[in-house]
Amino acid sequence: MSGHCRSTDSRSRRIRSFRLPDIASKVLRGTQLQLELEPSDGLKLSPVLTKIETSSIDSRVAEVLSNHEPELSLPAVKVSSRMRRTLGSYHQKKKQITVGAHLLASGTGAEIDEILLHEVAHAIAHHRFPKSSAHGREFKSICIELGVPPTRTVKFPVDEWLKNERIAYECDSCGHTSLRKRKLHSIRGDCGHKFAPKSGYLVAVSNQRPPMILGVVGLEWRR
Ligand SMILES: [Zn+2]
Ligand SMILES: [Zn+2]
Repeated sequence: MSGHCRSTDSRSRRIRSFRLPDIASKVLRGTQLQLELEPSDGLKLSPVLTKIETSSIDSRVAEVLSNHEPELSLPAVKVSSRMRRTLGSYHQKKKQITVGAHLLASGTGAEIDEILLHEVAHAIAHHRFPKSSAHGREFKSICIELGVPPTRTVKFPVDEWLKNERIAYECDSCGHTSLRKRKLHSIRGDCGHKFAPKSGYLVAVSNQRPPMILGVVGLEWRR
């Protein structure tokens, strides 16, 4: 038995009927470890959730700044799961670039880069021309300098991305994760156990990769 998984006791009781694959556990980001089991008895098995990585977008921003505006430094890019149709934003006072979690989870590399550079263009425009208007002449010339379209809106398949949104509920007894389309105050998990989740993860599903965590969903009853 692997000693790595959480709630080992309840898990090992429940998984006795499953056949363990050769490599039963998979390391996720060093700290997050989950059992990967092979399907048996027709029961859907717990998907391994992955996290959005932001280190590559932070280094992309640093690279663009060093080439175009070395005196300007920006805080780490923030990711927002609340941004749905908005793909990115720049807050002038805080010098904060924020990008949508859906974009990072479902967008292509080129789409992510376009939004990121659009927001960097806002930062550079504000730094060089503090009084310039948000999508004005100066901003547009910086977009061209950075090689992105100087437009305010883009046509990305956001509706498709939003269709891939699910809520992942973790069973309080066995730790098994069940994906559902809506917020539920009570759920019968894929494991068969019924429970009242206090929270869940908002995730984006895809055929190409495991479900990706966009954010946390609180499900406490309001009193
Ligand atoms: Zn803009
Ligand atoms: Zn369970």
